[in-house]
Amino acid sequence: MPTTEISYLRNELEVRRERLLEASSSAAGDASLRQLLTNVDAALSRLNAGTFGICEQCHESIEADRLLCDPLVRFCLDHLSQEEQCALEQDLSLAAGIQRTLLPRPDWSVDGWQARYHYQPASLVSGDYCDLIESNGGFLFLLGDVAGKGVAASMLMSHLHATFRTLAGQHLPLPLLMEHANRLFCESTTAGQFATMIVGSALPDGKVEYVSAGHLPLFHVSPAGVRAREATGVPLGMFSATHFPVCEVRLAPGDKLLLYTDGLTEMSNAAGEEYGVARVQALARRHAAAEPHSLVAACLEELRSFSANAKQTDDLTLLVLHRTN
Ligand SMILES: [Zn+2]
Repeated sequence: MPTTEISYLRNELEVRRERLLEASSSAAGDASLRQLLTNVDAALSRLNAGTFGICEQCHESIEADRLLCDPLVRFCLDHLSQEEQCALEQDLSLAAGIQRTLLPRPDWSVDGWQARYHYQPASLVSGDYCDLIESNGGFLFLLGDVAGKGVAASMLMSHLHATFRTLAGQHLPLPLLMEHANRLFCESTTAGQFATMIVGSALPDGKVEYVSAGHLPLFHVSPAGVRAREATGVPLGMFSATHFPVCEVRLAPGDKLLLYTDGLTEMSNAAGEEYGVARVQALARRHAAAEPHSLVAACLEELRSFSANAKQTDDLTLLVLHRTN
């Protein structure tokens, strides 16, 4: 585990220890608080002894995202008791259910636009972020990928969701929206946590403004061809004072935008070769005239045959925005 995360956890444990001391010395303090205090002290001793984060059963490393969520864990996922495993599975499926409620409606549409997406976590929960928010007569589209995966990434994903949902109500210009969201994200995450994102605003007349914070190229799909549009800025959460340059693109009726996360481009075939951005572009060219849901389906079908149904290792999200008239 990196030193920044270790010092973050040490600080967390010390803060919690203070709180527990106060609470357990009050009149209502009970034995369970004293037990927690003992557990916190034991975790601090493990930090001092250099054994923190090592499974007491197999002596291998405990999963870093679990330690960040709960620095008191002492066993790796493989060595939980039956009871702990059941509790964890229940927690995860609850979290997965909550995460699904954060997604846009599957048949989403507004004046002049229609969207279709595919959201597929590598395990139960995902670090990918996908949202569509009606705003100012048009709408905002947001697609992001939090670094890492699993529970820690999914918590940051829901944090991003809340941040953008709150800021969207203020109808800020795109650069300001990004600057505010970035600052909030920086202030509430530890070093090394960041997210690549595309955030755009689209109007009924086909005008689209967008910012790409270090994200993979988005594709403008039209009868004239498929044009890749590269990132315009650094990922969210890297530097608290960052400017995000805005790009503009105009979609004619029938045109589409294709956005995706690296669960698509980094999927490997049997030879260890990645699917890559060029294949996404070629596929979009072949299906330029397809309806949005057919483009999503074609993408998934090709990915399945490319990877020969290999196990999905990263969260995958596809989003197609279609200008209808
Ligand atoms: Zn273990």
